[in-house]
Amino acid sequence: MMSNKSVKRREGLKPANDSSTSGKEKDTFMALPALATYPSLGPGPSAVPKTGRKYVGAHISAAGGIHNVFNNARAINAKSFAMFMRSQRQWIAKPFTDDHVVRYKEQSKSFASHLILPHGSYLMNVGSSKPDLLQKSRDLLVEELGRCHQLGIPHFNFHPGSCVGGSSRADCCRTIAESINIAHSKVPDVIVVLENMCKQGNTIGGDFHELRLIIELVDDRTRVGVCLDTCHAHNAGYDLSTEDGFNSMISDFEKIIGFQFLRGLHINDSKNEAGAHVDRHECIGKGHIGIEGMKRIMNCDLFNDLPLVLETPYTDDAGYAKEILMLEGLINSNNCEVKPTAVKGKRGRKKKEVQKVKEENLMEVNVPKGKRKRSSIDETKELRQKKSESCENNAKNPVKQEPVEVSEAKSTAQRGKKRKFTKAN
Ligand SMILES: [Zn+2]
Repeated sequence: MMSNKSVKRREGLKPANDSSTSGKEKDTFMALPALATYPSLGPGPSAVPKTGRKYVGAHISAAGGIHNVFNNARAINAKSFAMFMRSQRQWIAKPFTDDHVVRYKEQSKSFASHLILPHGSYLMNVGSSKPDLLQKSRDLLVEELGRCHQLGIPHFNFHPGSCVGGSSRADCCRTIAESINIAHSKVPDVIVVLENMCKQGNTIGGDFHELRLIIELVDDRTRVGVCLDTCHAHNAGYDLSTEDGFNSMISDFEKIIGFQFLRGLHINDSKNEAGAHVDRHECIGKGHIGIEGMKRIMNCDLFNDLPLVLETPYTDDAGYAKEILMLEGLINSNNCEVKPTAVKGKRGRKKKEVQKVKEENLMEVNVPKGKRKRSSIDETKELRQKKSESCENNAKNPVKQEPVEVSEAKSTAQRGKKRKFTKAN
């Protein structure tokens, strides 16, 4: 017999603000009754190595050659990362040079490959009902998967697509699945990773049922996974600033898709309120998910061992390094209020001097450990080390290899270089 509690949870299968079941879409799978059962989609892709640790990183630049991603990851102390494999705004791109591939492979030996989650081009819509666009998108998906295969990268993440041109949402999901099946038949091994979206307009993937339908229709479900974007989930209707909203997302994901399919997260705060259906990322702690919401995310064991990739607005490397450290500092911090820019023990200091210290703290996160000044972040971390192993130590003992040598990291800013960054969603 079903308890009141489980009935309530099942009724919550469809998040609030769900507008996707109205009108012409009633003929689709989304008209599922609230109490429908969801048979397992199967074991999913093979499990990633288990360490019980969090691997926080960011979307980084591959400008100048794909091999540069490792230096760029090191510059911000990233323990995982995403990048574009090619220009994401052009249909035609040059293949990798042999030299860059050799250099990439050499450097990749020191980084666990499942913690690298490349992001697909924004041009691609493998669910399009327009034949020309669909064919170009399918060709591009094959090309991108081919690049991953060439480099030995096991995953490729992209936005599922959108149903422009008059097709129903369900038909669009079927087209996406067919595109994946075609790509699978042309490129071996690489796992396609579908990203959840905001329920904005015609985009597919804001409702977990849509991702489920796509996965159901993929012939080889060991080669399909999901990347959970926190900003997108918040905007789709799961209020991640609250415990109920977070639990609702977890419960729905488990029932509708299954955590065996989760291959990574995009950790973003949101400029907009829950259910706004707008894809605008905010820096960690500055948006509507907030630090409390981020604490829940960073302390969820279901997110262990996966790439946790920042796609927050980029300012400079130091900004990303600070956000990574901030997120790592939230682990096991249930009783600890984290204010990374607060300066403790500076009583009597003039306002300007305090501001200067704040700025110094921000820039020092990449300075070799023995040389940097103490910041409030250090103090908070030391407190936590008494309770548990710190994230920094975690990174020194990854299951496969050392992802990045934290102590040698220097920011690009410190090296006096400026590099171009392109935002990912
Ligand atoms: Zn994302």
